[in-house]
Amino acid sequence: MLIEGFGFERQDLRVRAELARAVQARPTGLLISCTCAAMAGGTAAYVTQIEPLKLTASLLVVVALIRATLTLLRSRATGRTQQVLQATYPVLSMAFAGTIGTCAALSLVLHAPPDLQILLVGYAMTVGAGIAAGNASRPLVVIGQMVLTLLPIALACLTSGSLPLLALGLILPLLIVALTFLTFALFNRLARQARTAAESEQMALQLRDQAHTDHVTGIASRAGFEVAAHALLAASKPDDLVALFWLDVRRLKDVNDMLGHQAGDEVLRSMANRLRKRAPEGALIARFGSDEFLLLAGFANRKRLETLAGQLSADMAAPLRVGNQRIECGASLGVALIDAASPDLDRLMQHADLALYYAKSAGQKQVCFFTPAMTRALVHRKEMEAELRAAIQRDELAIYFQPILDLATGRIRAFEALVRWFHPEKGELSPVDFIPVAEETGLIITLGNWITRTAARAAANWPDDVLLAVNLSPVQIHAPGAALGILAALREARLPASRLELEVTESLFLQDNDATALFMDMLAAEGVRFSLDDFGTGYSSLHYISKYPFRTIKVDRSFVSGPDVGRKTDAIIRAVAEMGTTLGMEIVAEGLETAEQVDTVRRAGCTLGQGYHFSRAVPEHLALRLLDDERTGMAALRRVI
Ligand code: C2E
Ligand code: CA
Ligand code: CA
Repeated sequence: MLIEGFGFERQDLRVRAELARAVQARPTGLLISCTCAAMAGGTAAYVTQIEPLKLTASLLVVVALIRATLTLLRSRATGRTQQVLQATYPVLSMAFAGTIGTCAALSLVLHAPPDLQILLVGYAMTVGAGIAAGNASRPLVVIGQMVLTLLPIALACLTSGSLPLLALGLILPLLIVALTFLTFALFNRLARQARTAAESEQMALQLRDQAHTDHVTGIASRAGFEVAAHALLAASKPDDLVALFWLDVRRLKDVNDMLGHQAGDEVLRSMANRLRKRAPEGALIARFGSDEFLLLAGFANRKRLETLAGQLSADMAAPLRVGNQRIECGASLGVALIDAASPDLDRLMQHADLALYYAKSAGQKQVCFFTPAMTRALVHRKEMEAELRAAIQRDELAIYFQPILDLATGRIRAFEALVRWFHPEKGELSPVDFIPVAEETGLIITLGNWITRTAARAAANWPDDVLLAVNLSPVQIHAPGAALGILAALREARLPASRLELEVTESLFLQDNDATALFMDMLAAEGVRFSLDDFGTGYSSLHYISKYPFRTIKVDRSFVSGPDVGRKTDAIIRAVAEMGTTLGMEIVAEGLETAEQVDTVRRAGCTLGQGYHFSRAVPEHLALRLLDDERTGMAALRRVI
């Protein structure tokens, strides 16, 4: 087959049109060719006396002029006009070729002078053969042109009776066949190239679309978001209130772990749908990472934006159904506003991410708006985190022990393990600063294990009736295998479980779940005691006291010492102590700094006390000394009685 798929598939038509456009985009060649035709035709019409030839040669000039004019017009036209002009192309080129061929044939048949014959035949043959090479984009037009220019000459030669012309009359049809082959070979090759180019362009577009879409939810992916977000910001005006909402779906990992990835995908799709429904018009929504979503939009005023934040948070918290499971995930939400002075996407994303970080660490408060103070605090935290990691390696941490005394007998009932960080440059750092950082980064798990193990080893050297109190962060409790880790630390130190008291705060119950109850029940069954720390600073819910196996309540030191202490706090301590007696619980008063405070809390009914009045937290060897002194009757601490 001369031409691959001679029927010209749709694809080939497109390719053909493209090739033709490429040729016609630069009309210079065609214009010169028209000029040549006008020159040849004009000369012939001028010199010849043979009427039919004069007429045909003049016609050639007219056709050449029309063709040149239309070529010029077409190169400048657009849209519909260009299409109409385009349609005239094949007709005109045929008329053009036909006239040239006829002129040449007439010059031979009517015996024009030899120089005129050379001009017209030579010109016609050049055009006929030249076109084939030059216009491979339209093979049928090329064949038509060749036939129309060369065949009249061939016929004229064949009827001339002269041997050389007879030979030319035979050569020309063969030439037409040869050039037809060449034309098609060239066309096929060009078409193949153009098709490959078109296909790879389409594939690139498809790949781009795929990369720009998240296949689970159908909304934009990270890459898609970035491209569209840049465009949205570029189109926004300086005083537009553009905001970025960054949502982090909570508990998706639990869903994946417990119900499988399909269920997780289902949750993501539901979340994406909720987001889609709530998103204001023109908003851009995308999925980022495994469980995060972004929403970028312009707002009429800040009130609108705050309303949306609340709505999104509520939407995400609404329970959803996957199969026959009811799932409650919820999302933390960080919001940042574009800085009018520098509407930079990276900055906006940094700010929203930071606000999200705060929203996540705020526990209950799920929506956070970015403020510049967050950046400073973050830098501080990042530094602290890096240093804390190094500190654990370098042994800069130590455990100190603060005694808890029986307020009736003055004897040491327990030591609370309190971590200390001796920084080589900054000196002693407070756990109030670094424990929250360790909690947020998860470092508390490593650190907490180390504290429990080290403290248990120290406690194993104390008399059997002295307890060890260890503070436990919620993060530690939620870590997998937490209870087993604690039991292992006790076994390793050979410390009976009944001598360990774990201090937890109410913040543990904010994410009230079965895992917490399981953890506490499992350890309580082994004999581990629990004490509710900092009582009075949180919800102070009596519900927790009855629900979980607490043996001790530690009344926060703000009720004992400090500016707010007065009749009211006295009454509170009294009430708590009374409840403790009724429930058979110990009540510890924290932060006892003076003898009067000791007196007050004792009279209020607290059974145990802790504070600087008795002793600060001391290193292990001094803790042993305190115990020794007490046992040998020196009773250094018995100031209490
Ligand atoms: P907390 O559990 O309430 O520990 C009692 C804090 O009160 C300790 O501060 C202690 O030194 C301080 N304190 C004791 N007596 C007095 C007093 O009479 N007056 C005053 N003003 N303060 C007194 P510290 O050691 O700085 O610890 C602060 C907090 O850091 C602890 O509060 C606890 O929440 C956390 N923390 C300390 N060590 C650990 C630990 O090993 N693990 C965990 N998870 N948290 C810890
Ligand atoms: Ca404590
Ligand atoms: Ca406390």
